[in-house]
Amino acid sequence: MKNERSENNIERIYETDAYRTSFRATVTDLRRDKSGKFLVQLDRTAFFPEGGGQGGDRGSIEGFAVEDTQKTEEGILHILAPVAVHLEEKVKEVLAPGREVGAEVDFALRFRRMQNHIAEHLFCGIANAKYGYDNVGFHLTDVVTFDLSGPLDAEQIAEIETACNEAVWKNAPISVLFPTSEELKDLEFRSKLELSEGVRLVKIEGYDLCACCAPALHSTGEIGVIKVIDFMPHRGGTRITLLAGRSAWEDYLLIDSQMRDLMKLFSAGREHTALFASEYANKTNLMHEEILNLKKQITSAGVSEVKSIIREKSREPAGEMPKVCFFMKDADEVMVRNVINECVKEYEGVICGFRGNDREGYRYVCGRKTADEAYSLKDLANKMKENLGGRGGGSEVMIQGSVDAKEDKIRRFFDED
Ligand SMILES: [Zn+2]
Repeated sequence: MKNERSENNIERIYETDAYRTSFRATVTDLRRDKSGKFLVQLDRTAFFPEGGGQGGDRGSIEGFAVEDTQKTEEGILHILAPVAVHLEEKVKEVLAPGREVGAEVDFALRFRRMQNHIAEHLFCGIANAKYGYDNVGFHLTDVVTFDLSGPLDAEQIAEIETACNEAVWKNAPISVLFPTSEELKDLEFRSKLELSEGVRLVKIEGYDLCACCAPALHSTGEIGVIKVIDFMPHRGGTRITLLAGRSAWEDYLLIDSQMRDLMKLFSAGREHTALFASEYANKTNLMHEEILNLKKQITSAGVSEVKSIIREKSREPAGEMPKVCFFMKDADEVMVRNVINECVKEYEGVICGFRGNDREGYRYVCGRKTADEAYSLKDLANKMKENLGGRGGGSEVMIQGSVDAKEDKIRRFFDED
């Protein structure tokens, strides 16, 4: 097995030494892409180009920030972050082809991704050994998401997760192998493709052997912890989302702070928060029901009151626009509307409901059974605007708005014809 590998004559340091973060290299090409970003090529690099589901490395070359690394047919492109105009000449000078440069990989980001990526290998390796499922899709962003080819339930996933963490605690060695085509024939390994040569394998001793192009950790202990945070059935298989290492710990910090807030809110111990929350939800539902009942009672009392006002009014000679008003000061709009809808059934005139108070003014809704050409509801809205202040409008069966007048004045307005 060989250790040194190159492609397009580029020595890929990241393949054999995932921990090498600073290196020197010679610039082989410098050009700009369509958006004006500088693309740097080197004769050797420790920057991992995006591949196998893992993002391209970031870092810097001679102090200029590298925001991404991509592999293309022409080679490995180190994509510089946009450079200020006055620094462009400097980039062209410092990173001119033939110049020797110093470069640094953002190892915190790289290490976090390695933790997540190797965690995925471990999970898939264990799931494969136990259920024979393959990884048929993999994506690594801030979380690791991958698709297994068969169904798994919550219990099975919890079992695999436990086995994964036990493998972490065993600190199993991880190695990278470059088998010859001869050696490859006798190897059983996980792969998405039919591979025969130039194969790079990542081996987790006792757990997994998988074709992979990404930098690998030295041992499983470095993963720290593995936690599945979500799963769902997906195209006959299972989509798993997990966090490992630093990403998992950061998630723990978030959950811990949420938990502390909840404990304070419910005055509950850490292990009883969900119980208190569910009791609280039950109480809230009961209160909600009580409120609904009270509203219904207030509404039906309102209906009785308005019906008796209507009966009183019917004894008087009808004016040009028969109308009555009522006050439900603390009611909401729905309650007022319900009273009106119930009472217009047996009244030929207009019924207006007011809610609010003398200090802050009143909101009103007026309704009637059917439109009547003899008098217009919109005219009523205008008259109220003139006499009581405020604003309002609507249709010929329902108007609504607000008035500035006090209760006495509103009542007088409705008693006049
Ligand atoms: Zn991999």
